[in-house]
Amino acid sequence: MTLRFGQSCPTCGRRIEIRLELLGRSVACPHCHAEFIASEQRARQSASEEVLMDRVERVLRQSGDAVSVE
Ligand SMILES: [Zn+2]
Repeated sequence: MTLRFGQSCPTCGRRIEIRLELLGRSVACPHCHAEFIASEQRARQSASEEVLMDRVERVLRQSGDAVSVE
């Protein structure tokens, strides 16, 4: 029996099951073939996603302002 943990690919966002023995090592996503370091840090991942969404919102607002100024 092989122990696995779930992680979302940082490139394509799909959920991948990674063997526990590969934790901390470089793995390749089976969907997009991007290489990344396997890590089990979901809290940190969701936090960075929130920051990203916040940035996207700000950019959208800025572009909206630019249009209304014209
Ligand atoms: Zn991927």
